[in-house]
Order: sequence, then structure tokens, then C-alpha cells
Amino acid sequence: MTLSRQRALTLRAEANPTCAECVSRPGGPEVYTVTRFRDNALLAWDIDLAVEIWSDGRIPLQVPDDVLNNILEVNGTTPEHIDHVDLGFPGIACAVDWTPHGNPVMGLIDGSHRAARARRDRVPYFAYFLTESESVRCQGTVGAHLCAHLESLLKK
Ligand SMILES: [Zn+2]
Repeated sequence: MTLSRQRALTLRAEANPTCAECVSRPGGPEVYTVTRFRDNALLAWDIDLAVEIWSDGRIPLQVPDDVLNNILEVNGTTPEHIDHVDLGFPGIACAVDWTPHGNPVMGLIDGSHRAARARRDRVPYFAYFLTESESVRCQGTVGAHLCAHLESLLKK
């Protein structure tokens, strides 16, 4: 995690000490995990690596409303936290699954609360899109494997 991101998250946690989402964010590796609906597979992405990848100069793209609605039906959000996030920072999107016809099912691996805020406030939401190979790289780090393993133990 970059120092400026770490600092911003620390300041936000200090400003919202009763919000579990805010106080859980600063420090440690950031990993997003999701249980894939189709086969119950536990997937994990290293968000620090995802941020490093999109920092290559690519521009964020608007997430279409129908895709955003589908994502927000799956990604859990904490209503209290929605007012604490900054829409100035785009999310990170990638394929989290594939349809039987081979089309990608897009998901957000970072920025669910910002997406929920954008939908509530009726403003466009933007995300950096990772390619399939970039997504695979983010799932292959030690941090991602460790978080997936720990989460699988917690589910037992
Ligand atoms: Zn919060």
C-alpha cells in the first residue's frame, strides 16, 4: 500500500471511529475475497498489486448502470460506510467469472461502497479495468493465497 493511501485511510479511520469498515482498512495487505456463486470457489485478489498494475497510466472507464446494479446485488456493503468514501477514487473491475457462452461476468474487487454511493447519488461510477492475465496475477500472490486460506478456515 502506498504511503499516501495508507495516510488517507488512517485519517478516515480517525474521523469515523465507530465505523467497522473505516477502522479495519489501514495497515496490512489489502485483499478482496469473494465466493464464486457457480461453484463456491473462494477467490482472492491482491489489491495492492492491482493498484500497482493500474498505475501504468490507463484511464478509468465508466461502469455501465446494468453492470453496476448486478455487481451491487452480489457485493455486500455497509450502509453506514457509504458516506465515508470518496468518489474521486475509481474502483477496480475485472472478470470474476465467465458465462457458459464465454462472456465475462464483471465484478468490482475494490470500490463497492463508492459504487453504492454513486448509484445512490445518481452519478456515473468509474473503475480501472484489469485484463484477465492481470487479474490472474493479482490472485497469485502470497497475500492473496494466504487470505483465501484463512477465510476458508473461518468458514469451516
Ligand atoms: Zn466508514
